[in-house]
Amino acid sequence: MTFIIQGGVSLLDVHCHIIPGVDDGAQTEADSIDMAKTAIAEGIDTIVATPHHKNLRYDNYREDILKNVSILNELFEENGIELTVLPGQEIRINGEILEDLRNGELLPINDSKYIFIEFPSDSVPRYTEQILYDLQIEGYTPIIVHPERNRELLENPNKMYQLVRNGALSQVTAASIVGKFGKKIEQFSHQLIEANLTHLIGSDAHNTTTRGFFVRDAYEMVKNKYGVETYYMFMENSHLLVENMNLNRFEPSPIRKKKKKRFGLF
Ligand code: FE
Repeated sequence: MTFIIQGGVSLLDVHCHIIPGVDDGAQTEADSIDMAKTAIAEGIDTIVATPHHKNLRYDNYREDILKNVSILNELFEENGIELTVLPGQEIRINGEILEDLRNGELLPINDSKYIFIEFPSDSVPRYTEQILYDLQIEGYTPIIVHPERNRELLENPNKMYQLVRNGALSQVTAASIVGKFGKKIEQFSHQLIEANLTHLIGSDAHNTTTRGFFVRDAYEMVKNKYGVETYYMFMENSHLLVENMNLNRFEPSPIRKKKKKRFGLF
């Protein structure tokens, strides 16, 4: 594996709601600037903007995202903020993905073959396997975002194993890794890493207060817990993603569900 770090560690955040006023992320240009400054302070120099699409509350179509990203890059330049924003989209899984892709409504990450797919928070829809399969037949690689925060996957981690075995990739959220979403989600994030069921770390930052970045903290934790090789794998994958190259992936293994202690107090 070759990974050249130029001029110190520069981090790339692959998942962020930094475009103002388009979803539940940044609301104003000032919010976007705040987020950018916080990101830069963590060592991030590039962010993929991934506004929600078809999540029942927000729609962000390809052409609008492309326009908004170029406006945001201009805003940062005018304000002397050294952060590059790349275009992306977080697509809630739905039955029309293939059709929407063909119609040019969807935006893979930086126009690569990689598509961010979000599940509803409590379930994995029955048609998921079919959609992920169809996407691959069309030449795309689906990336399941924050699987560690999905209730059905938490309860049935082997479902994640099957999805990855069938060619999907996944992105784990930095805040989950460092425990900001609670113990269960933290534990599941680490199980996903240990079982080679996740390939990217992203912030999914929505603001600088309740849903911040934690990207540097997450990478540090990964380095300390799993060693430099795993750390570089994640770092390199973020760059390979936006360059539309094949990501590093290792043989996945199933996660054994921990048995609940019936008499935990005794
Ligand atoms: Fe998101």
